[in-house]
Amino acid sequence: MSGAGGAAGLGPVVGEERLLIDGELRPARSGRTFETVNPATGEVLGVAADGAAEDLDDAIGAARRAFDTTAWSTDTALRVTGLRQLHAALLARSDELRAMTVAEVGAPLGMTHHAQLDSPVASLAWVADLLEGYVFETDLGEAAPLGIASHRWIRREATGVVGAVTPWNVPHQINLAKLGPALAAGNTVVLKPAPDTPWCATVLGRIIAEETDIPAGVVNVVPSSDHAVGALLSTDPRVDMVSFTGSTATGRKVMAAAAETIKKVFLELGGKSAFVVLDDADLATACATAAFTVCTHAGQGCAITTRLLVPRSRFDEAVEATAGVMAALPAGDPTDPGTICGPLISARQRDRVEGYLRLALDEGGSFVLGGGRPEGMDAGFFIEPTLVVGLPNTSRVAQEEIFGPVLTVIPHDGDDDAVALANQSVYGLSGSVWGERDRAIAVANRIRTGTLGINGGLWFSPDVPFGGYGQSGVGRESGVAGFEEYLEIKSLAEPA
Ligand code: NAD
Repeated sequence: MSGAGGAAGLGPVVGEERLLIDGELRPARSGRTFETVNPATGEVLGVAADGAAEDLDDAIGAARRAFDTTAWSTDTALRVTGLRQLHAALLARSDELRAMTVAEVGAPLGMTHHAQLDSPVASLAWVADLLEGYVFETDLGEAAPLGIASHRWIRREATGVVGAVTPWNVPHQINLAKLGPALAAGNTVVLKPAPDTPWCATVLGRIIAEETDIPAGVVNVVPSSDHAVGALLSTDPRVDMVSFTGSTATGRKVMAAAAETIKKVFLELGGKSAFVVLDDADLATACATAAFTVCTHAGQGCAITTRLLVPRSRFDEAVEATAGVMAALPAGDPTDPGTICGPLISARQRDRVEGYLRLALDEGGSFVLGGGRPEGMDAGFFIEPTLVVGLPNTSRVAQEEIFGPVLTVIPHDGDDDAVALANQSVYGLSGSVWGERDRAIAVANRIRTGTLGINGGLWFSPDVPFGGYGQSGVGRESGVAGFEEYLEIKSLAEPA
């Protein structure tokens, strides 16, 4: 274990340095470690074992052996027990995990009561319930193909060894949205978290090893400072499936690398989602919601709406309303329960966002609000909530994923134009539509994205499938559909 002082009101930050491989918590074979940093302060929290190719090789070997030689994939009761034990252990450690999550992710404390911790933990109970009632075999009755009377049925089976590669922005959510269904379906897993948030994964590894009966080798956790280590999961022939969440650029590489061994590939990628306000919408409420959304976790969410499409006739009114709310949500200390906009994850990510702020000006845009670093907050990696106007939907700032608290307001000329602008994107992850109900639903039905909220409705829940159209991904996470991503279908027949 590794620890650091806790913030006021939060307990001490307890991390975990070790990898989990074949049931053993251990250092990297090289003995090397790398630092994990608090993005709100720039302070080093501690270190994690720096997994290398040889450690990943051990982990894949362990996962393969556990899948091929233990009852894990066929013993549903053992899996239900393991998932319930993990759920209970994480619940019992909520306070400790909350402090660690705020410190390592820079997640505003309020968010840990939802997407950053409590909701993902609750999703384990949901998936255990699903598993208890899930019917793995379906009888298809009799038929006589080629004149041979046959009784046919379908059996759903685990896919095998799953390589799970995750990003840093909502690590518990994404680690558990992969682990929960993958384990429930009977797979074994090698989890490779992002280098920025190793502890969110290694702590999970320790809890699995010490507080559950999940057998050795079923879950392996290998953080690394080197992205190339995760890439090995896409090429190793012992891995059956790669479940990846991250940027579209990396997803493209994963898909290409996995082609060599024809792996099943599940991808949750980037987004540039539209927030569409129709001319009969409650503009003040809509704009307040758009402002709040983009400030949340400093805009570091793939499904966050970052293009605000408003009626041309109400453009000035919409800009004023949005700016007013964003101004009231400044970047702040994530340990403060009132903070919505915390830090960016790293100096590298802040540089990237600042590059887009310069680009916004170069492309002819201007800032109604923000546009740089907040004064007096130089220790952490903060950016002011920023509202951009004067750019067309085709500009790079309006088309590329920034992953910062940056909202671009673009005018539209009616419902058809709004739909066209929303769909003018390589992405298709999420969105929001505001207006009279039937009209808003008609617009939502024409937008090519995997999730949409109507007039503030929220789809985020363990039973709701989440995923992208276009270059936002392949497949669905969560819900029954998300669970079934981790299953193969076997068709069987016998003489009738
Ligand atoms: P990233 O693509 O840089 O890295 C994601 C993970 O992939 C990390 O663990 C990284 O080490 C690993 N990786 C890097 N190169 C790899 C390779 N060649 N092969 C295999 N693994 C590799 O993304 P990030 O910066 O960590 O996270 C931000 C991105 O994630 C954003 O684009 C965001 O939209 C996306 N994201 C998507 C979802 C979703 O569900 N659609 C959710 C959260 C984040």
